[in-house]
Amino acid sequence: MLKPLMEGKKGLIMGLANDKSIAWGIAQALNEHGAQLAISYQNEALEKRVKPLAAQLDKEPLLLQCDVSDSASVESCFKKLADEWGKIDFLVHAIAFSDRNQLRGRTIDTTRDNFAMTMNISCFSFLEACKYASPLMADGGAVVTLTYMGSERVLPNYNIMGVAKAALEAAVRYAAMDMGEQGVRVNAISAGPVKTLAASGIGDFRKMLHWNALNSALERNITPEEVGYAALGLLSDCGTGITGEVLHVDSGYHIQGMLRMKNIDRDVEVLTEG
Ligand code: NAP
Repeated sequence: MLKPLMEGKKGLIMGLANDKSIAWGIAQALNEHGAQLAISYQNEALEKRVKPLAAQLDKEPLLLQCDVSDSASVESCFKKLADEWGKIDFLVHAIAFSDRNQLRGRTIDTTRDNFAMTMNISCFSFLEACKYASPLMADGGAVVTLTYMGSERVLPNYNIMGVAKAALEAAVRYAAMDMGEQGVRVNAISAGPVKTLAASGIGDFRKMLHWNALNSALERNITPEEVGYAALGLLSDCGTGITGEVLHVDSGYHIQGMLRMKNIDRDVEVLTEG
């Protein structure tokens, strides 16, 4: 193995729901490289799911409750982190939410309430987490959030989440400027589709996975572990010159301008089979 890249570094991971979560892929890569983790969970029900995962890490993690729809909860989470550790070296934000009934159909039918909630949980929460992390990173550090290509291009059923991810990517650039002065780097990883709890809310997600595997440059889907190692690169001293960036970890799907010719017949069949 490489020399541990995160030895002596501490940080918070937000958005670990279960062992399928992208956040778990990131937690494992950081753990493998010696990081000390704090993990936040939304509520008590989720604490039960997070505890068995926490037990698999080499260094016992700090578990903190944090519902990002409630600013008091976010403030209290970071206060506890400050009381325990005084400072952190990294922050991972892997949180998004929208009404699953609106992750299908037309984007223009999104309700005002769901628009506000989606932006609040999927984008504002990132800015607010950066705000509270900032004093804990006075000597520098690194932040990573998770986005998806639906921010750049229209993808079926991704709908208002695509709009929220576009805002999130802009927020990454603004936060990178704000926090750059204190030596904090802020980046996003644009992951290819992964079968997780959150993704299961997106209409026809199974077909999306199939389509990506057929038509990406590497002709396969990515794994949470691969996102984990990319995050490790951005959060460790391997990434010291990178900030404000959106790094695609998607088997190269985003570079394609057209389907692979050899797949066109098969893709047409998949779509017409329904
Ligand atoms: P996941 O395992 O379901 O994780 C989503 C996390 O967001 C869950 O831990 C969820 O907690 C949390 N969350 C939602 N509302 C919250 C709130 N109010 N307070 C605190 N936490 C809240 O799904 P995932 O796919 O790994 O998602 C992680 C990130 O990756 C998201 O930003 C997602 O958009 C992004 N991403 C996913 C894919 C993909 O294909 N899976 C691709 C690109 C980017 P609950 O379980 O309590 O809701």
